[in-house]
Amino acid sequence: MKLIRTGSEWNPHWLSHLQQNHQIGFVPTMGALHQGHLDLVQASRSKMRVTVVSIFVNPTQFNNPDDFAKYPNTLEADLEKLESMGVDYVFLPSVETMYPSSSNLTLDFGDLERVLEGRFRPGHFNGVGIIVSKLFHLIKPHIAFFGQKDLQQVAVIKRLVNNLSFDLQLEIVPTRREEDGLAMSSRNMRLDGNERQKALLLFNCLSNAKKQLIEGQVWPLIKSGVEKVFEKEENARLEYFELVHPYTFEIIETFDPNQKSSICVAAYIGEVRLIDNLPIIL
Ligand code: AMP
Repeated sequence: MKLIRTGSEWNPHWLSHLQQNHQIGFVPTMGALHQGHLDLVQASRSKMRVTVVSIFVNPTQFNNPDDFAKYPNTLEADLEKLESMGVDYVFLPSVETMYPSSSNLTLDFGDLERVLEGRFRPGHFNGVGIIVSKLFHLIKPHIAFFGQKDLQQVAVIKRLVNNLSFDLQLEIVPTRREEDGLAMSSRNMRLDGNERQKALLLFNCLSNAKKQLIEGQVWPLIKSGVEKVFEKEENARLEYFELVHPYTFEIIETFDPNQKSSICVAAYIGEVRLIDNLPIIL
């Protein structure tokens, strides 16, 4: 496994793989790797001749400085995991490499900016769009792998790839959960014992709501039930609980079993903001 820190270090390898007709898979991450990340790596390993994983905690996508400062860093363990999975290259750029001059380009993802993550994390998708564009330009992969866990990010990146004509494909990998249902996330490391228990509220509310929808209960009642559950909880604060179209993120008020939909949630457990989602498949 080779560690690469700049685009110019990567270019000769890229050229050599291209000349040998190797397909290059790319998995962008912010490190603190868990099995969810490793599922993406596995998807790339099983499909592509070459796998590149990047680890870069991107400062411009954090709208909350405290979240950035407290973002976990487990680089040594991350590298061991990637090595044991047979990853070919890890791209570990510095902030200076990724942002040689201050960025004054702004990306606006239109309606996606006004709902859910876009609404509650202003500027977040601009930071995601900029860093993912830079990484795509530097690594030049054939396929990039992303997790369904960040469903709205998937919509943003699809829009980015289509609108800016990136010559690559996207593959979306299902959400990996802990045994009790909590979606794996690097931020889970920041939860103490009580908070870890409380974090299950997200998955429990999602799965109950899905069951109620399928049984025919109306969405506004289901949603207000969840809001009440959170109001009663100490140390937990709901930001949103919405039924949306999983590609356009249009908010759905009336459930239609013939239309694609997903339930999305964001909530603070203590100081840690968690997100999750569940597709409604009948
Ligand atoms: P992050 O390091 O949080 O930026 O995530 C890097 C990639 O891993 C993104 O495409 C995420 O959607 C994906 N990912 C994060 N958590 C999970 C999970 N629990 N299951 C599947 N993919 C995930």
